[in-house]
Amino acid sequence: MRAVLIVVLYLILATSSYKTYDGYKMIKVTIGSEKDFLMILDLESKNLLTIFAESRSGHVDVLIEPQHAAQCKEFFKSKGLSYEVMADDVGVEVAKEKRRLLRKSSVATGEFSYDTYHRYDVISDRLAALAAKHQTVAEIVDLGTSYEGRTIKAIRMTANISSDESDDKPMVWLDGGSHAREWVSPATMMYIIDSILGEQETDKSDKMGELLAKFQIVVAPCINPDGYEFSYEEDRFWRKNRQPSGCKNNKLNWYGGCFSKLCYGVDNNRNWSVDWGRTGVSTDPCSEIFPGRAPFDQPNTKAVKDYLEPLKDKLKLFVTYHSYSEYFLTPLGYTEDLPADHEHHTKVGEAVVRAIAARHGVHYVPMRAAEMYPCSGDSADWAYEGLGVGDSYTIELRPDWDSWKVGFELPEDQIRPTAEENVDGLLALIENIKYSRENNNGTED
Ligand SMILES: [Zn+2]
Repeated sequence: MRAVLIVVLYLILATSSYKTYDGYKMIKVTIGSEKDFLMILDLESKNLLTIFAESRSGHVDVLIEPQHAAQCKEFFKSKGLSYEVMADDVGVEVAKEKRRLLRKSSVATGEFSYDTYHRYDVISDRLAALAAKHQTVAEIVDLGTSYEGRTIKAIRMTANISSDESDDKPMVWLDGGSHAREWVSPATMMYIIDSILGEQETDKSDKMGELLAKFQIVVAPCINPDGYEFSYEEDRFWRKNRQPSGCKNNKLNWYGGCFSKLCYGVDNNRNWSVDWGRTGVSTDPCSEIFPGRAPFDQPNTKAVKDYLEPLKDKLKLFVTYHSYSEYFLTPLGYTEDLPADHEHHTKVGEAVVRAIAARHGVHYVPMRAAEMYPCSGDSADWAYEGLGVGDSYTIELRPDWDSWKVGFELPEDQIRPTAEENVDGLLALIENIKYSRENNNGTED
């Protein structure tokens, strides 16, 4: 039966418009200054490459189409930038991953596990099953509907969930899957939910009971379900959502259609209202960093905003999980100016990365988000400045810069350790937020 299912899946793939990435190059460029970074950003704006991960003081990982490879390499050489080819044919890596996923697909095994990445329906069903099993402490929250009609779901967890008093508890918000291709993010969210509900064996089980007693924890594992599914079915490195975003170069033909082609997708992490549309964005609707036409004009961001805004006085911690590069990012993202809570954020960052490293020895780097790459309209800045949540962070999960050929394709055997270290990181984070410090023995250290 399982063999038949795998054959069927292969046939579906063979007949779909799956993007193969044959001949694409994955290149790591070493940069020494902001000027170097801006040069690479300029190449991206000319559609000569796509930036996958960046750090202004270290490296930039770029994906290059075969026809632009020679030109880009020549450019790097002429500017004195050294580079390393991580994958000479990204198509080979994509095909390898696809074969592994088909072998381990939950369609084939019929179960939810952490040794593979799951489709959105499977994630969604798992959330519903967990809420049904743990009725006294968990319930599903329907946040809204995506452009393609999928329900954007969260799970709310707290002790005595049906009591009125549970609504008044301080709230922790965690979300994942804002960017479609960052698959380890929804997987990590699911593991965190499992750990809180006692579905995973963890040496921190006693802490979970305390957590549920003190807080209401709301986790939205995948706030961009259309993009996530598209990245599985058609384009492994799709980043944005799937709402039509406009015509290439805004050229319309005589009947109002696109002159060349219709582009899709808005960057969900550029569509929030704080400093919207100013830096680290592109007005080209085909761009990876198109921020939409107005803040919250996308169903994904609007769903989260509509849920959290009325609860902002209760919200004590906001964390959004991305990949990759192993960073703990503190506010602000849109400006180099230090926020009022900078000193507090620095202490929190140190505590979190210490806890993460204690699990498997992996050292995440704490820094202000703008130090990595300034950008406007991201969700953590919105929570910090728009909602006034003093503890608002972005975590970039595994891998680091050097471990894998293509960073978004984190091998499935890395899901569990990534998730485990982030359960520990989250517990350290909650212990160190302003709310916890102020409410532990009534003193703040
Ligand atoms: Zn991301």
